[in-house]
Amino acid sequence: MRKKLLLGNWKMNKTPSEAKAFALAANEMVDYAVAHDIEVGVAPTFVCLATVKENINPKCIVSAQNVNEHASGAYTGEISIGMLKEVGIDWVILGHSERREYNGETSEACNLKIKALLAANMTPVYCCGESLETFEKGETKAWVAEQIKAGLAGLSTEEARKVVIAYEPIWAIGTGKSATKEIAEDTIGYIRGVLRELFAEAAEDMRILYGGSVKPANVTEYMSQPDIDGALVGGASLEPDSFKALIEGMIK
Ligand code: PEP
Repeated sequence: MRKKLLLGNWKMNKTPSEAKAFALAANEMVDYAVAHDIEVGVAPTFVCLATVKENINPKCIVSAQNVNEHASGAYTGEISIGMLKEVGIDWVILGHSERREYNGETSEACNLKIKALLAANMTPVYCCGESLETFEKGETKAWVAEQIKAGLAGLSTEEARKVVIAYEPIWAIGTGKSATKEIAEDTIGYIRGVLRELFAEAAEDMRILYGGSVKPANVTEYMSQPDIDGALVGGASLEPDSFKALIEGMIK
């Protein structure tokens, strides 16, 4: 049985004091989610991670939005796994379409990071998704299959089991134009099939989230789909009231 997961991606939003205010406001809603068998987490910027970790309900996942695969050294501007671990962070989002677009992050680069995270007993959340052009050409499945195969190349079945996948059609991120539940389920079901080919029965344990303009008003319909195990949410995860409404929508 795959546990439902709600993960808020804060992108480049919130100063440390704003992040702390959210963390303090979120304590009860985290308990509420956990009591209903839903895992919740937030992914603040690097400078907010320690503050959020110190102030939020310990049952809440706190995730980074990126990491470097090297242990230390001459990598100006980068953050290592050891640095994250020391402030209590053991989840990292990788391959988000914004990092792919603005920072040149490739599936192959994500693969190195995923392997490094798994070796450190951490949880990668690996994002995939197609552009509007690819969607309109009807090439979504081939596109995401390629991203999944490249990102998870060389993982053992046991390692793959620990990876969370997020399917986020780029045309639905931050646009208010969400994929229908049928489109999301069709692609996510297909992704599970690709995972089955690669990792056999481990595919049934791997969580696959949908992301792209998920809001309190539409989260329930995604959660009703058999292959959708939760949501990766940007805009609607930023305010405590909206985050709480997302949790409530997942419980319905
Ligand atoms: C995201 O950042 O991963 C995302 C899905 O954003 P939004 O919910 O704002 O579309």
